Amino acid sequence: MKRIAVMALQGAFIEHERRLQALGAETFEVRQLADWNQPKDGLVLPGGESTTQLKLLTDLGLLEPVRRDILAGLPVFGTCAGLILLAKEVEGEPYPRLSTMDIRVRRNAYGRQLGSFATEHEMEGVGRIPMTFIRAPYIESVSGEARVLAEVDGHIVAAQQGNQLVTAFHPELNDDPAVHRYFLSLLPPSNPSTPSTPSTPSFSPSL
Ligand code: GLN
Repeated sequence: MKRIAVMALQGAFIEHERRLQALGAETFEVRQLADWNQPKDGLVLPGGESTTQLKLLTDLGLLEPVRRDILAGLPVFGTCAGLILLAKEVEGEPYPRLSTMDIRVRRNAYGRQLGSFATEHEMEGVGRIPMTFIRAPYIESVSGEARVLAEVDGHIVAAQQGNQLVTAFHPELNDDPAVHRYFLSLLPPSNPSTPSTPSTPSFSPSL
């Protein structure tokens, strides 16, 4: 069974947990550094408020360990604020975040009036899905190994760079499990040769 760490410092993390569990994965919440040291096959960075999340990650000493593991290949799925944390560049905010993904992002990009909206669109590798945007960022450009998976009205709203998957929208808030299923498909297969538990030796008490 796959074990997914869900960053639970702030924002919409419970919805991700429910969705992943419904797809047969096990989840655990990361609230402090000790939680991070548990074995895991992947990580979800939920939506919420990226500035608050960044401050908490920094204060709790999680920023560097999480960054290191992502760069070492840990599969990660960032939605909305999670996408912002993974971006190497955020328009007008030149300070470090996790900064592992070659994407340039604009925060609160849809302006006040269009802050939140829902639509339905195609996402590469996933199909046609509902997309809910809540004061969402969009990706202005991708570079390096990052590639575009979905565009809505000329703006990039989903991208992938190897083990890193991001969406500007919130698939955990819709009924469709396709994006989470896609994320789980990025996880390396479990090692089938799990060592068998040694059999308990039976003792015949000598009388
Ligand atoms: N506007 C938020 C931010 O900039 C992101 C919104 C979200 O995660 N739904 O952090």
